[in-house]
Amino acid sequence: MIVNVSKIIKIPDITMELSFEEKIDFIESSSGKIKLLKPVYFTGTIANDGKVLYLKGNLSTVLELYCDRCTKPVETSLSINIEEKFSSEPIDEEEIHEINSGSEIDLTPIFIDAILLNIPMKIVCDTQCKGLCSQCGQNLNEGTCDCNQNEYDPRFAVLKTLFKDSE
Ligand SMILES: [Zn+2]
Ligand SMILES: [Zn+2]
Repeated sequence: MIVNVSKIIKIPDITMELSFEEKIDFIESSSGKIKLLKPVYFTGTIANDGKVLYLKGNLSTVLELYCDRCTKPVETSLSINIEEKFSSEPIDEEEIHEINSGSEIDLTPIFIDAILLNIPMKIVCDTQCKGLCSQCGQNLNEGTCDCNQNEYDPRFAVLKTLFKDSE
């Protein structure tokens, strides 16, 4: 989403309302593509304080993530508060984004970064999710399997000690 700020860039103490939605199908993350089930919706303001432009608002969308235990898709709603600064003059501050010569701000990369930063660390389809059998892959929410489910396996115990020594 490109926002043209030419109307406010020369006028100090003016605020512009922003409200729009943008369809983004996928976001590339370090662990692969993430599907967006709803458009990214943003509502907020952009204000000129005479030196920099302040963007403030709320972004919301719905992602398709996968259960950490059973890998089932989980619809995950996100609501993120956005606060960013922009300037058309080069300011030696890392967190200030530059406004291009056409007085335009591209919000899409900012929104994508915000979404990536706010992906929950843990995703479970249900707090009661039993996950997959570590041996045969059976989804234990859907049925049981014949594998030995003993937690203690002497072979793994040996491996654990080996890893500890090599650390
Ligand atoms: Zn699950
Ligand atoms: Zn099994």
